[in-house]
Amino acid sequence: MKQRTIYSFGGGKADGRADMKELLGGKGANLAEMTNIGLPVPPGFTISTEVCNYFLKHHGSLPKDFKKNVLSALQKIERLTGKKFGDPKNPLLVSIRSGARASMPGMMDTILNLGLNDVTIQGLIGKTGNERFAYDSYRRLVQMYGDVVMGLKPVSKDDRDPFELIIERKKENRGTHNDTDLTAADLHDLVREFQAEIRHKLGKDFPQDPTEQLWGAIGAVFNSWMNDRAIAYRKLNDIPAHWGTAVNVQAMVFGNMGDDCGTGVAFTRNPATGENEFYGEFLFNAQGEDVVAGVRTPLAIHRLAERYPDIHKQLLKVRSILERHYRDMQDVEFTIEQGKLYMLQTRNGKRTGFAALRIAVDMVDERLIKPEEAVLRIEPEQLNQLLRPVFDYQEKTSAIGSGRMLAKGLNAGPGAATGRVVFNAADAEEWRHRGERVVLVRIETSPEDIKGMNAAEGILTARGGMTSHAALVGRQMGKVCVVGCGALNIDYPSRTMSVANRTVREGDYISIDGSTGEVIEGQLKTKPSDVVRILIEKETLSEPSPVFTMFTKLMQWSDKFRTLGIRTNADQPDQCEVAVAFGAEGIGLCRTEHMFFGGDRIDAVREMILADDETGRRRALAKLLPMQREDFVGIFRVMKERPVTIRTLDPPLHEFLPHTDKEIEQLSGKSGIPKEKILQRMSKMHEFNPMLGHRGCRLGIVYPEITEMQARAIFQAASIVKKEGIDIHPEIMIPLVGYINELQQQEQIVRRVAEEVCAEDDVKIKYLVGTMIELPRAAVTADEIATLAEFFSFGTNDLTQTTLGLSRDDSASFLPSYLEHGIFEQDPFQTLDRVGVGGLMKIAVTAGRKTRPALKIGICGEHGGDPKSIEFCASLNLNYVSCSPYRVPIARLAAAQSALKQARKRKSR
Ligand code: ADP
Ligand code: MG
Ligand code: MG
Repeated sequence: MKQRTIYSFGGGKADGRADMKELLGGKGANLAEMTNIGLPVPPGFTISTEVCNYFLKHHGSLPKDFKKNVLSALQKIERLTGKKFGDPKNPLLVSIRSGARASMPGMMDTILNLGLNDVTIQGLIGKTGNERFAYDSYRRLVQMYGDVVMGLKPVSKDDRDPFELIIERKKENRGTHNDTDLTAADLHDLVREFQAEIRHKLGKDFPQDPTEQLWGAIGAVFNSWMNDRAIAYRKLNDIPAHWGTAVNVQAMVFGNMGDDCGTGVAFTRNPATGENEFYGEFLFNAQGEDVVAGVRTPLAIHRLAERYPDIHKQLLKVRSILERHYRDMQDVEFTIEQGKLYMLQTRNGKRTGFAALRIAVDMVDERLIKPEEAVLRIEPEQLNQLLRPVFDYQEKTSAIGSGRMLAKGLNAGPGAATGRVVFNAADAEEWRHRGERVVLVRIETSPEDIKGMNAAEGILTARGGMTSHAALVGRQMGKVCVVGCGALNIDYPSRTMSVANRTVREGDYISIDGSTGEVIEGQLKTKPSDVVRILIEKETLSEPSPVFTMFTKLMQWSDKFRTLGIRTNADQPDQCEVAVAFGAEGIGLCRTEHMFFGGDRIDAVREMILADDETGRRRALAKLLPMQREDFVGIFRVMKERPVTIRTLDPPLHEFLPHTDKEIEQLSGKSGIPKEKILQRMSKMHEFNPMLGHRGCRLGIVYPEITEMQARAIFQAASIVKKEGIDIHPEIMIPLVGYINELQQQEQIVRRVAEEVCAEDDVKIKYLVGTMIELPRAAVTADEIATLAEFFSFGTNDLTQTTLGLSRDDSASFLPSYLEHGIFEQDPFQTLDRVGVGGLMKIAVTAGRKTRPALKIGICGEHGGDPKSIEFCASLNLNYVSCSPYRVPIARLAAAQSALKQARKRKSR
């Protein structure tokens, strides 16, 4: 490796900068940045991510000269601190910290107090005169090193951490619950006991040589990039494996030297609500992860002002420097050593959807950022939270009134969740898999629990604060989350939790309110959010809703910036109303077959399918016509002049036939068709591969009378509503076209019927006929197809199936493995496969527009509501995306972000 691999920081200067996250990881880059802007950061250096990648690629070997360079960077720290690594009199201790490009909270383990051993500890005691502190530091090193580097961890899911068990035993012996009550002698014992446990369980000794510790720790950080929980976290957050992690080696400062010491974490604004207030937690006389691990329940930051107003002031000053410098809410970690503040980390803070919205809107008002930046800052998916239900207030009040309230914890992740209690992550996943809604209850969560947390409706912990692992990860996942609920006595082995004299068992229902922290026995009804109440339920709220006001502002900004149109997939008037209220500008896909199921329609449909000949079919279709017409009238009245794309019948007909014996008998009774005949017809219609069978336009081609009836229903409906004074814009879409001849045959039927209806009713209706592009052949021959088609709509569900040769309904048995092995980076049915499916789309867009420059092109597959796929659609210059009604706000925001990002790219070119 030629380029520099080590970047030092300290003494007011740093080799790195905030924008060097690719090399230095987020933590390293920001440690450098904070050093450069004059904040108090203990000196250290960052080993670049490239070394990690080298190490993993070369099976654990390191680049040439690497060790030499590390040791010389270490000497710089020694010079700045006046201490020496491994020195028996005045030892330098360091922390080894991982840090990837994107923050991965708690994913990789930190080792503190490295450099201590049976000799250097005497130096530390001599220097500080504080034996208790020295042994506390040493026992932490042995514990962390034993766990992270040597691998002494709990074995099964009901096991506790072996080191924590030893500590607990010690506390019991001493008759205390508090780790601060342990004496120097106790801690000295712990060091011995930990070392013995390591020797006993692993057959190896804790290394005494500080340099050996150093290499061991650095290697462990590199290796941890590939551990299960890091891989799971990356998968959930779409972080590529090839990024690698950086390693930070930093001089220790000590929060565990006494009562004028401590450690804490803070957010420059409230991460749950977004309120503009300093929000943090800390512990006196503590070190490292104590605050977030929930060992003790921490104190709110303002309590610091009571005892050490001076330290509190230092913190407030840092807060304002950071916010002005980064122009975003920061999540910081700090340590106080004998009254002096040190900053150990800063990064953009994770926040709930509510907080993201509030912070972005507030910062525009405070003129810290522009509306463009505000729009770019909110993750589109987070808007889901604003639309999420809350508990029905009345029902909750009466539940509490009747004594069902179990306890109250901290409100870490807003929303309402009801589900069955499970006590570990594996069970959460398993139960969820069975279709249960679960609430994951843990004493505290750790990174191992991530998959289970993701599977749960809500997360409840007994320990930890607003910045605990559970709170942080829960917020990021948008989970309902209550933490630090100290009243709960959770017992893993018996799978129970008790409060006072009440016991909740595994499988019992509980309800948690992540906005208030309440934990309530049993199930509770939920109620729609403010945004939904105002927009969808059209309620007038008695008090102004700040959430709604900010939501509206964000949507207005989004609409100003976006270039993509937003339509919805809807086939009922009520769905259309919801979509329009959320801002849909038209319908991108109305599936007519959904209308075939309701009430006694299915009888007429079955009659049509079972008919022997065209006359029989027409008789049945005549019954369907008025019903289908009514459906379209309803939709047109809601959609008004907005375009409505209606797809002619698409699914294989046997989907409409009865399935059970009883249903068949009923049908036979109603229709007078003998059971044998129904069975015969059904077996004739059986298909080996219905996805590629008699469906799509193939139905209308073999049974043109079906298309005819549907076209008649559409135009008659349009005519009725047009006469009510509304200008209607139907767009008739022919599915599953692969050959232009297919489209031609169907188009002629549609146009003929249109003419007939317009003549009969003496109206003029402007309409379009177009096609779905959902077969590779259609994409490849798009130039030809565009001679007839007035619009294209990418049916990316089918286009993905047909391009990948993969049936979505049959993929469950292998898709998970494909994702696990990284053969697919993402589920192609969730996020568009840009290279393959997207490649075909590109061909179709270019070819189609060459033939017909004004060709209207949209997307109506499930991908139309997926932010990443929307970004791709914007890059193809599609005219619109279409998604389900509740995703319309998400699509509006995602479309705005895509446009802003594109504009930025163009500018930087
Ligand atoms: P994570 O990525 O899990 O947050 P960190 O590397 O930030 O891990 O380390 C966790 C905690 O360890 C920090 O918040 C801080 O309290 C403590 N820590 C890390 N390095 C030092 C140090 N040099 N001096 C004192 N405490 C440290
Ligand atoms: Mg940290
Ligand atoms: Mg399709």
